[in-house]
Parts: sequence; C-alpha cells; structure tokens
Amino acid sequence: MPQEFTLKINKLVCTGCNVCVTSCPINFNHLKTQSYLNEENAVILVKNGTAYPIFIENREVNCDGCGICVKECPQIAITMQIKEII
Ligand code: SF4
Ligand code: SF4
Repeated sequence: MPQEFTLKINKLVCTGCNVCVTSCPINFNHLKTQSYLNEENAVILVKNGTAYPIFIENREVNCDGCGICVKECPQIAITMQIKEII
C-alpha cells in the first residue's frame, strides 16, 4: 500500500543525533525483538550525519505517521507532509 504521507528531513539543521531513530516506536520494537536496526527493518535511520526515512513497499511494517520523531527532534528538522488522497 502506498504511503499517504512523507517525512522530510531538513538536512541543513539535522545534526545526526539519532533521537528520531531511538524514539520511533517501530524502530524500538525491532530493536527489542531483533536487537539491531538496518535498512530492512528500520523506518528511520541516520547515515553520514543525517537522518533519512525508509519506506519499503509491501514491507510488513512501515512508518505509521505517529509523529513522535517529529515532536522529539531537538532541531525541529522533521516535517510530515500528507499526500493528496484522490
Ligand atoms: S532529524 Fe532531528 S532527531 Fe533525527 S538525527 Fe536529525 S536532528 Fe536528530
Ligand atoms: S512518524 Fe512515528 S513511525 Fe514514523 S518514523 Fe516517526 S516515530 Fe517512527
């Protein structure tokens, strides 16, 4: 199912602090059950000092738009955009 929103990270202000990665409940569940995060199970990660969202079509669990990372980011670097639903 296509995602109905997108997370945008402002690369100019993101410090790569990892708060979004660790505050995300979906990431947390994967960490708890699999004890690691990678591009296959995480919905948001940090690479080269910048966070980036990961959406994989048909994956069992994708970002559900809960907005916790948006609230927790100390840099206010994350915004959520709702896609137009036709
Ligand atoms: S998006 Fe915000 S919380 Fe995530 S790594 Fe960047 S600064 Fe930290
Ligand atoms: S919106 Fe929620 S589920 Fe999506 S990346 Fe942020 S914390 Fe995780």
